[in-house]
Amino acid sequence: LDSVKSLFYKEYGEPADVLHITTQAINQPENNQVSVKWLLAPVNPADINTIQGKYPSKPPLPAIPGNEGVGEVIAIGSNVKNLTVGDRVIPNGTNLGTWRTHANYNSDELMKIPKNVGAIEASMLNVNPCTAYRMLKDFVSLTPGDTVIQNGGNSAVGQMVIQLCKTWNYKSVSVVRDRPNIQELKDHLTKLGADEILTEDEIRKTQIFKSKKLPSPKLALNCICGQNALDCLRQLAHGGIMVTYGGMSREPITVPTSALIFKDITLKGFWMTAWTKANMNSKERVNMFTELGTLFQQKKLKAPPHKLIPFCQFQEAVINALNIDGRTGVKY
Ligand code: NDP
Repeated sequence: LDSVKSLFYKEYGEPADVLHITTQAINQPENNQVSVKWLLAPVNPADINTIQGKYPSKPPLPAIPGNEGVGEVIAIGSNVKNLTVGDRVIPNGTNLGTWRTHANYNSDELMKIPKNVGAIEASMLNVNPCTAYRMLKDFVSLTPGDTVIQNGGNSAVGQMVIQLCKTWNYKSVSVVRDRPNIQELKDHLTKLGADEILTEDEIRKTQIFKSKKLPSPKLALNCICGQNALDCLRQLAHGGIMVTYGGMSREPITVPTSALIFKDITLKGFWMTAWTKANMNSKERVNMFTELGTLFQQKKLKAPPHKLIPFCQFQEAVINALNIDGRTGVKY
């Protein structure tokens, strides 16, 4: 192969300024190596932050961006046993540099994914569905009928939370930002299985928990912080836990003293990357991918709305991601 296209950056900065296309050749895969043709890769907020140099996991420079994607195996080395040509694969680790057309990897850096999981769903399986899955499983022992409250309800993670809650029979309350077409967004999230969708204004005044329409939430998932997180935290049941996994508002969280003392509220954080590193070969990880794969096949989980953008128009993809108006994917 001699015309492999790749994005790369030599210095940290705004993606539209620092990303360039380069053309390279790749060799035939040797021993445990596998050649992959990347088919699709999403643009996640963490990809943007990594290129800006603002993310904790910093690949050495110059770097090839892209942490997620779905690819096809096009050649294998002589010692490869677990993959064959034609298999669909996703990364089995972080920062594989998926924003390129082809690359060679060690076979253990890749995970085979059944072809009846759609390519779009497979391309974004590693980060957002897994994050939603772990946060619903690992912090509070939820039982059917329990309520989960979250902000960023229309984020990619938020939409996975709504769908998993529906599947596992938990009630979900999602807080979203107000917008002119709010009813459209509420209809979309209701169709996914949301029980209540409230704007930032509405959560402040809501009576749904006081009136016992829904039980007070035992778990709050927070990717916004600032006032929004405080308003969600105020709705938690006694002994409830708030898990913070993002900070989209770029504001800190303020916690009322009384919430800690009299309501015994706990604040925790979650980082998928750290969980994956600590659980790389665990049974829980295998079970999670099997269960998520099945839910995608059964269409109980659907990818969030997205736009496919060809590789050569990568500038549009990264600018779209910064404006965050629907999810973006880069198509090769
Ligand atoms: P998306 O790009 O899909 O969604 C971003 C969300 O943030 C939208 O709901 C958007 O609302 C909202 N938002 C942005 N700015 C603000 C603001 N100032 N106030 C209120 N809401 C705001 O993101 P993802 O689902 O991919 O990721 C969501 C967050 O979760 C990110 O911070 C990401 O880094 C983090 N994350 C963390 C992981 C971890 O392991 N800790 C793993 C995966 C994601 P609107 O539609 O109104 O613009």
